[in-house]
Amino acid sequence: MRSFSYARPETALAAIQAFASAGSGARYIAGGTTLYDLMKLDIEHPQHLIDVTAIRGLDRIETSGDRLRFEALAPMSAIAANQTVLRDYPVLAEALSKAASQQLRNMATVGGNLLQRTRCLYFRNGAGGVSVGNTYPCNKREPGSGCAAIGGVDRGQAVLGQSASCTAVSPGDWPVALVAMNAYVEVLGTSGTKTLPVADLYRMPGDTPHLEFTLQPGEMITAIVVPKTPAGRRSTYHKIRDRESYAFALASAAVALEMDGDRVTRAHIALGGVATKPWRATAAEAALAGQQLTPNTALAAGHAAFADARPGRHNAFKIKLGARTVADALTIAAARSDT
Ligand code: SF4
Repeated sequence: MRSFSYARPETALAAIQAFASAGSGARYIAGGTTLYDLMKLDIEHPQHLIDVTAIRGLDRIETSGDRLRFEALAPMSAIAANQTVLRDYPVLAEALSKAASQQLRNMATVGGNLLQRTRCLYFRNGAGGVSVGNTYPCNKREPGSGCAAIGGVDRGQAVLGQSASCTAVSPGDWPVALVAMNAYVEVLGTSGTKTLPVADLYRMPGDTPHLEFTLQPGEMITAIVVPKTPAGRRSTYHKIRDRESYAFALASAAVALEMDGDRVTRAHIALGGVATKPWRATAAEAALAGQQLTPNTALAAGHAAFADARPGRHNAFKIKLGARTVADALTIAAARSDT
């Protein structure tokens, strides 16, 4: 049994101040769908929990004007069911509705979901792990201890962005869609507010895989902003997994297309399930620019997305699967009307 303090401030500013007063060992908590899980597994040991769910006015969904703005405490399920998002930005609605179960989507917030931690089996089956009970070395859980996934069972691990210290996949669906759509977050900290592209929220593992996010201690995501784009309606989130419900992606692709007839004028493509962070597939985007979208050009873009992939012992299948996933997502998006 580990004890911790608990506070439930009613304003964002009070939450920031509570975090600063608590010092090291403080964590914000909202839906709790990741953090409580990791506390029960004895992987996370916060000394102070600052529950932000009592903050009023931090769950609004705004769809008018030249941007979409989702406040951080909005439940994932609310945005997945929003009629404007469903019609004009299916990539966002689909990424949310294909994540987790309905019960979890009702609890989980769109801000908290961006900070979800990896599902690497060795990370989660560490000290106190309930499903195996062994302690595996894991640089993310215990810096400098090693990485059991390298040389171990790596079927679910990354083929893009991995390092000699960590090959863990970034687990989210929602962040992948947001990266494709050039979204950014609004962040509140002791020195005021700032904005940060969602793509810059995530660190590459390098030799410090325990440092996963670029937020400074005490900073809190207060909103997610998605600039409106004509590519929104011709978009999709295509997710391939071991079973069709409640599973993390083996490979996924968030795609949005601006087209002139059957020719792609601009493609937005990001990958999930295959990389150590939500992965913008810039080579695939470049391969498509000005091209007619055909089965061949779609698959060529998929292959371009994985040109730098480095497979491990058991996950080479992700390269072919990922390329096919990109190609299928492009075909699905292109078939959608932009009016
Ligand atoms: Fe830990 Fe990363 Fe290795 Fe998994 S891949 S065991 S998270 S260091």
